Amino acid sequence: MAENHHNARFHAAAVCLANLALCFATFVTMPTLLNAQDREPVRYTVSFPAPQTHYAVVDADFPTGGRLSIDLFMPVWTPGSYLIREYARNVEDVRVSGEVANVLKTTKNRWRVETGGAATVRVSYRVYCREMSVRTNWVEDSFALLNGAPTFMTLVGGLARPYEVKLVLPAAWKVSVSGMEEVTGGEPHTYRASDYDELVDSPILAGNPSISRFDVDGVAHYLVTEGEGGVWDGKKSAEDLEKIVRRYKQMWGGLPYSHKFVFLNLLTEASGGLEHRNSFTVMSSRWATRTRKAYIGWVDLMAHEYFHAWNVKRMRPAELGPFDYETENPTRSLWVVEGITSYYAPLTVHRAGLSSRAEYLGTGSDTTGSLSSIINSLQATPGRMQQSAEQASFDAWIKYYRPDENSNNVTVSYYTKGAVVGWLLDAKIRRATNDAKSLDDLMRVAFQRYSGERGFTPEQFKALAAEVAGVPLTEFFRTTVENPGELDYSEALEWFGLRFHAAEQVKEVKDAPKKAWLGAETKIDNGRLLVSRVLRGSPSDTAGLSVDDEIVAIDDYRVRADQLAARLDNYRVGNRVTILVARREKLTRIDLTFGEEPGKWQLELKTDATSSQKRHLDDWLGK
Ligand SMILES: [Zn+2]
Repeated sequence: MAENHHNARFHAAAVCLANLALCFATFVTMPTLLNAQDREPVRYTVSFPAPQTHYAVVDADFPTGGRLSIDLFMPVWTPGSYLIREYARNVEDVRVSGEVANVLKTTKNRWRVETGGAATVRVSYRVYCREMSVRTNWVEDSFALLNGAPTFMTLVGGLARPYEVKLVLPAAWKVSVSGMEEVTGGEPHTYRASDYDELVDSPILAGNPSISRFDVDGVAHYLVTEGEGGVWDGKKSAEDLEKIVRRYKQMWGGLPYSHKFVFLNLLTEASGGLEHRNSFTVMSSRWATRTRKAYIGWVDLMAHEYFHAWNVKRMRPAELGPFDYETENPTRSLWVVEGITSYYAPLTVHRAGLSSRAEYLGTGSDTTGSLSSIINSLQATPGRMQQSAEQASFDAWIKYYRPDENSNNVTVSYYTKGAVVGWLLDAKIRRATNDAKSLDDLMRVAFQRYSGERGFTPEQFKALAAEVAGVPLTEFFRTTVENPGELDYSEALEWFGLRFHAAEQVKEVKDAPKKAWLGAETKIDNGRLLVSRVLRGSPSDTAGLSVDDEIVAIDDYRVRADQLAARLDNYRVGNRVTILVARREKLTRIDLTFGEEPGKWQLELKTDATSSQKRHLDDWLGK
């Protein structure tokens, strides 16, 4: 939609141009338009009369301003998750109270209400809440997670006004939590947002979660955990979360909020996280405190979402605010807000003392979650040669969030590439300033400059990076984010005294012929061995193996579904074979020559690192 629902000033100017006669009236009403907090609130009452059926019932009171009809809409997406989700599809039974009032659906996500001249109209509807994710709703007998965008219908053009939500909880639910301010002195479980953006940005959890509180700088922080089930270690997780908060506070030079911060930790055996200004939601397994790898993964997720309190929720790309909730809001800068966040999360887990240097760098045998694994993931993606970090950002809506079997060949993740570019940029700034400055300084200055009313453009962020580094970075950004292609690691490796490990030298006996590589991923479906992905440029790609081909035999010897890897052990690089596949039930023979599996990218410390390289490493990672 081209229409801007959020900017009263713009709206007033447009009316002036269109009709001079209206100008006087418009300017007379300007003070009211601009002072949003004086406008009459929209009030919602949300109840759960039968939570086991997964429904929330919403009664919404909309001020009409005396108009004979008002238009209402439901968002089609929610900030932070860049996909059109059509939240209106879970809305049903929309009705309006009053004898003359009437409601008619006008577009996929809009309704027109005939008010009959009433000052306020009550619109009631039900929302089906059974999608377990951080950006949708879930209601069941023991708890509810409500997000703003999938729950609250509102006035077209009426976002800049206060919003109030009153929850009517089932008797067994004792607690509700939200990043919004709680209205005290009246009915319990009542919250107030200063505008619709805050309402959408403030998920609500209701039920009987366990809550741990810690204070930093006099600000209360609440770790709110749903589903501990006697398995989760609440004490340890709250203590470690506080270490992350304190480490970020040190890096950024303070906390960006003064009221409270709420960590919604849902142990629902789902996964994911979604950032907000004064809260965030994560979903994970209740078993995650039981093993070190899973636990570091959880802390990493918390460190990622919390970093967003600065990077994206306040310091933001210019395109991400004011939001248009009815269409895509693309930006070329997701590599900054998601990629650099993905660089800092594991780094801060390490700096806070929660992971070892070997775990952070990934120099050991298990590289899960390490910098090495991020680099390896990028280097194993053929799409890095097709799509730049800026293109990946811009097309998130139609590509990253809509993956298919060919995505790996033609797209790159702005999380992964952005994280690696973040590391290279950090090294670049450190080298250019001889460790006087780092990426930390760039982020701090960017936050100071771009966390107000206006966000940053891609050009502004790049220019600021060059300003902090004190050297031109035009060529650096041209090769790392504006264009697809390989990254140059040499400068970063050299500065920190690192190198990539030559993995094949240890894994294989020297001079022995190397193991055969197919270059296809497979899955087992009802006992059939199916090709699920063909890697661009691999032996399977060259030979013409296709996704959904059923592999039946190699050289006319049957391959059982679970025995492909064992069979491939009997072949070597360069061996030529015939693969018998069933393609849409027709048997077909495909000639294929096995190739060599690309090596894994793993960082290791140079054994002959100089004392200055060791100092740079300590300066980066802490001693
Ligand atoms: Zn993120």
